[in-house]
Amino acid sequence: MPHLTIDEWIKAIEHKAESVRGVAINEATDKDIYYAVSALVTEEMNKNWLQTQERYKEKQCKQVYYLSMEFLVGRLLESNLLNSGLLNECNEALKKLGFNPERVYAQEPDAGLGNGGLGRLAACFLESIASLRYAGHGCGIRYRYGLFEQRIIHGHQVELPDYWLKEEYPWETRKAEESVDIHFGGDIHMFKKNDGSLEFKYENTDKVTAVPYDVPIAGYQNKVVNSLRLWSAESNASDSEMLTSQCSQYYHHLDHKHSIEQISGFLYPDDSMYEGKVLRLKQQYFLVSASLKSIFRQYKKTVRRSLIHLPDKIVIQINDTHPSLAVPELMRILMDEERFGWEDAWQITTKVIAYTNHTTLSEALEKWPEDMVKSLLPRLYMIIQEINERFCKKVWNDHPLLREKIPELAIIADGQVHMARLAIVGSFSVNGVARLHTDILKKKEMKSFYTLFPERFNNKTNGITHRRWLLQVNPELSSLITDVIGPQWIQRPNQLISLLRYSKDSPFLDKVSAVKVHNKVKLAHFIHEKTGIMVDEHSIFDVQIKRLHEYKRQLLNIFHVIHLYNELKDNPKLDITPRTFLFGAKAAPSYHFAKEVIKLINRMASLINNDPAIHDKIKVVFLENYNVSLAEKIIPATDISEQISTASKEASGTGNMKMMMNGALTLGTLDGANIEIKDLVGDKNIFIFGLTADEVLHYYNHGGYVARDIYHTDERVRRILDQLKDGAFGSQEIEFKDIYYHTLYHNDPYFVLRDFDAYIEAHELVEQSYRDQATWMNMSVTNIAYSGKFSSDRTIQEYASEIWKLKRMEK
Ligand SMILES: *Cc1c(COP(=O)(O)O)cnc(C)c1O
Repeated sequence: MPHLTIDEWIKAIEHKAESVRGVAINEATDKDIYYAVSALVTEEMNKNWLQTQERYKEKQCKQVYYLSMEFLVGRLLESNLLNSGLLNECNEALKKLGFNPERVYAQEPDAGLGNGGLGRLAACFLESIASLRYAGHGCGIRYRYGLFEQRIIHGHQVELPDYWLKEEYPWETRKAEESVDIHFGGDIHMFKKNDGSLEFKYENTDKVTAVPYDVPIAGYQNKVVNSLRLWSAESNASDSEMLTSQCSQYYHHLDHKHSIEQISGFLYPDDSMYEGKVLRLKQQYFLVSASLKSIFRQYKKTVRRSLIHLPDKIVIQINDTHPSLAVPELMRILMDEERFGWEDAWQITTKVIAYTNHTTLSEALEKWPEDMVKSLLPRLYMIIQEINERFCKKVWNDHPLLREKIPELAIIADGQVHMARLAIVGSFSVNGVARLHTDILKKKEMKSFYTLFPERFNNKTNGITHRRWLLQVNPELSSLITDVIGPQWIQRPNQLISLLRYSKDSPFLDKVSAVKVHNKVKLAHFIHEKTGIMVDEHSIFDVQIKRLHEYKRQLLNIFHVIHLYNELKDNPKLDITPRTFLFGAKAAPSYHFAKEVIKLINRMASLINNDPAIHDKIKVVFLENYNVSLAEKIIPATDISEQISTASKEASGTGNMKMMMNGALTLGTLDGANIEIKDLVGDKNIFIFGLTADEVLHYYNHGGYVARDIYHTDERVRRILDQLKDGAFGSQEIEFKDIYYHTLYHNDPYFVLRDFDAYIEAHELVEQSYRDQATWMNMSVTNIAYSGKFSSDRTIQEYASEIWKLKRMEK
């Protein structure tokens, strides 16, 4: 198949349109063609999928399972074509048939099975694992509703359900025969056996069937195809079983079925926010129990050795604490089903599980009420209690200096089960996701755990797959790069460093610049089509796209925009470089403050874009429903990448990496991976401003920050806040008093006012720099050249050699 000529491709597409859609090519819609091409790639991938599985079986190689409540994969047709080596021919064939490839690929719904960075990381990791020829698979949930679809109506966020499965999803295969049963609740009976050991029997549990749907994950042109296994919750009780059990009534029966299916019903839309909802806890156990059962089944089928050897063959990486019930569930299976004693089971468990921490934000730390865990998962609760008791005893006996810290180390404390503590105690590796983040974990947030288990802590700075985020989304830039340094960078992204030789080569810089302008023109068309707003491709495209969160400080960004607006109103002749401020951000539906900020951005957009006094010098655009496919349109057109979180708060960020790789310059704080970007490109190729993490932490510990002082001394700040309070931007229904009061009466917890002056100054430097295009393009290419480090290939190599101990499959 990789050797099909264009003409053969055309025939194959025609044939598939007939056989899978029943349409003749001249009648076919973009949707028909989307399904036809998907069927063609699937055929190609399925061959390799089978072969890959057989090789893994035959070699019995160690496998990693990446457990995550989220996989934000986005669209798959184009990336599957790319990785299968079929993209170029397919594009040519589609064009010859009179179809626009982009429009065909856009028929696919985004698989929005994630909130943001954490879920997108999981998707990038799977791609890199397969591309590097590692045996590794994802385990997640097949939510019937993904992250909500955002509409902006009269400037407000409105949420619509994302029923992404309403049409057939061509990438999944239902594997009903590999279903497993999951049990909730029930009673536990303990028996003492003759040898004195205890045996546990569970009765009256609620049974849920977990049905796997497998999605193939193709490596880049290497014939490796791994799996993403997504679990769906179904009620499997036969009708007669239902009738003879508690539900003798028809409607009860349906109710019960419905409540079971709810377990994989929807994704909780809270990014970096914890909500103690029982359905979410059910989802977590559902994922963990189904995945472990399927891992055990696979192990027994292929390895056929005692489970004592499990750690030689299996490693489980848990993405944040959401799957940390894997610790007690693995203990339960080993003890209750496989008859291991506690010590052996604990040895195995703590050699198999590795934990990735994603945040130190207190509002994101998972803590489940003890009672909830106890009633939903009675046996796991007993095991967690036992883990906790043994752990606390050990600290008491072996670490007298930490005795007073036991209340903050204990897994169960003040009526709550602390999931991060469970994950640390039950795993052999704890990693942060950027250098600063890991340092904060070791020195501050998890200091006592670090004293106990120094060897467990390690850093794995995040990454992104450069194949999707450069090669696929920016083909023109990619081919310019290949023209000058050859195609090796696609396999070895570090080779992008060779671009440095061309960073002062004006013909090359001119071409890179022309590609950027072309990408901006395309985005401008899209913006016009979606919003009616006209933007100038020669203006600076200044972009902040990420979830809306107070710590990410979209408020600081819009304060700068308001400040510019005020200046232009005072002095309409002001000579500034035209700027287009682009925003994309979903707010959690229950997050009031975040929704107020969305309202403010949209209000300023409609005021500024329609104010003739501004003469189009600044434009503000809020693009609704930020998701992977929108990111793919915006990032290649970005000049300035806004990464302005309060220092210490953004664990890593990955949006920063995607934009750097596409030649955007970062305007950011010394936070997360921004620091590592700065260390590579040097101070003169990045715009850094604001408090450092140490300064922020010092304020938290010792006080000394008074937001009101800035309000009283900086008249630009006072003017903006007063405008919000006095309704200067409002109308009757729209006002922004909450933001005013929140900022001044809660003492500006994220230091928006404190960093305001430095931010304005940094923007002035950006503006001046942009006027010197030769220097700007040199900076831009320097950023691309150093971006190879942020390929998830580098991240995965580090996980594989330092945590997972995996070897690459031979070619
Ligand atoms: C990369 C990405 C993110 C993460 O962005 P940050 O700026 O790192 O927060 C969130 N959502 C989508 C759709 C992404 O592609």
